[in-house]
Amino acid sequence: MEKDYKAVWASCLEIIKDNLGKENEQVFRTWFEPIVPVQLEDNSILKIQVPSPFFYEWLEQHFIDILRRSIRAVLGPQGMLKYIVVMDQSISGKPIVTTLPSTGGRSAVKNRPQDMPFNLNGENSSDLPNPFIFPGIKKVRVNSQLSDAYSLANFVEGDCNRLARSAGYAVAENPGKSYNPLLLHGGVGLGKTHLANAIGLKTKELHPEKTVLYVTSEQFMQQFADAGKNNNTNDFIHFYELIDVLIIDDIQFWANKASKTQEAFFHIFNYLHQKRNQIIITSDKAPSELIGLEPRLLSRLKWGLAADLQMPDVETRIKILQQKLDNDGIEMPYEVIEYIAYNINTNVRELEGALVSLIAQSSLNRKQITIDLAKQMIDKFVKSTSREITIDYIQKVVCDYFNLPIDSIQSRTRKREIVQARQLAMYFAKKMTKSSLAIIGLQCGNKDHATVLHACKTVSNLAETDKQFRYWVEDLEKKFKES
Ligand code: ADP
Ligand code: MG
Repeated sequence: MEKDYKAVWASCLEIIKDNLGKENEQVFRTWFEPIVPVQLEDNSILKIQVPSPFFYEWLEQHFIDILRRSIRAVLGPQGMLKYIVVMDQSISGKPIVTTLPSTGGRSAVKNRPQDMPFNLNGENSSDLPNPFIFPGIKKVRVNSQLSDAYSLANFVEGDCNRLARSAGYAVAENPGKSYNPLLLHGGVGLGKTHLANAIGLKTKELHPEKTVLYVTSEQFMQQFADAGKNNNTNDFIHFYELIDVLIIDDIQFWANKASKTQEAFFHIFNYLHQKRNQIIITSDKAPSELIGLEPRLLSRLKWGLAADLQMPDVETRIKILQQKLDNDGIEMPYEVIEYIAYNINTNVRELEGALVSLIAQSSLNRKQITIDLAKQMIDKFVKSTSREITIDYIQKVVCDYFNLPIDSIQSRTRKREIVQARQLAMYFAKKMTKSSLAIIGLQCGNKDHATVLHACKTVSNLAETDKQFRYWVEDLEKKFKES
């Protein structure tokens, strides 16, 4: 039977979204939503269109496992993926289109001929594209990685963010000329990413000729590491030096690590600053508390303006909730909105989370949104988010449960009971923390991300097939809930 390519891709997306989990929604939006399915060949090869060569490489290097699994789940073991890369607009105004097979990840980079690593003029570019310079294009056209949802219009103003917001506006009006760098800092979920993104969008709107780029510090670090491996660090730096407005999100991530990355960024920073290009940085700590960052980089960050974001007061929280409801076209009694605004005072992300859960609750159970329903839900919500479960804590609970010494998970032994405990700890860590597979692996006996993935699968499988094992999983689950 002929399958429809759109339906195939929709099913793949569902699997991918599910696998990435709620905590990676942003990842999903950034890397999967922009993909357009194009064609299905022989019922087995799905062609998808991606916005840039860089995007293609990123997918192949970071998401190949999940892509492959989803394709095979939908199309069967013969399922394959082909990419169509649109190299943005070429000078002639027509998009250049290149078709590339899925290479299965890292080999994409290894296969590049060593003697002619880059094809800079790009004619006949069947070779893999350089991730940083787009063939045949003099002025770089960069996928800004900005999200339309995080606009300035959607960023509710209040005392908590007035300085940061107006500084951001000034920067967008006159990039490089007012506050440079602009450092936005504040606790988790208080709107740093939103505002930084909004400044990027506004800049593009007011200055369409400017090249704006948003990257997380983690992406930057990863690209830099990849560039080093592939001997194109120079291109990496050159690419960044072409950006007019550079936004680096969550720079605290580099603290106490990534000294080479910081060094590279230091050079890029100096270059851009001298050219009066704009740099915007976010951090969950104030500059004075950013311990672990290279001192010379830190001193540069203090050159510009540091503006902080605080928790909004109740009035602003109400406005934020109302705006969100307006955007989604949902009505809710004012007293319920007020109830949420008064009771969630941790950060805006949780405020939104509570609202979304309440809407979901009411639509799932076909219940009216009443103050009672809100109370029930908020109580649960506040309880479940007030404490964070850490990987260490999970290891402790699992070890206690099986009467094992806590350090056994770290040991290299292959004893069955310890392997099992380690796998359970990994499984729960994936389920209950926001940590990446790599971090979980690192903390559970210095394993890699594939081991963690395997552990999660093993636990799920065993929980389905083995009664005793299922009992353990459920019992442990209860323990985590009670704690
Ligand atoms: P951070 O980067 O500081 O952790 P985010 O920018 O991701 O926080 O914000 C968390 C959520 O809260 C986002 O969905 C964002 O849109 C929302 N948010 C934060 N501040 C505001 C605001 N002033 N107005 C509207 N939404 C906001
Ligand atoms: Mg953020």
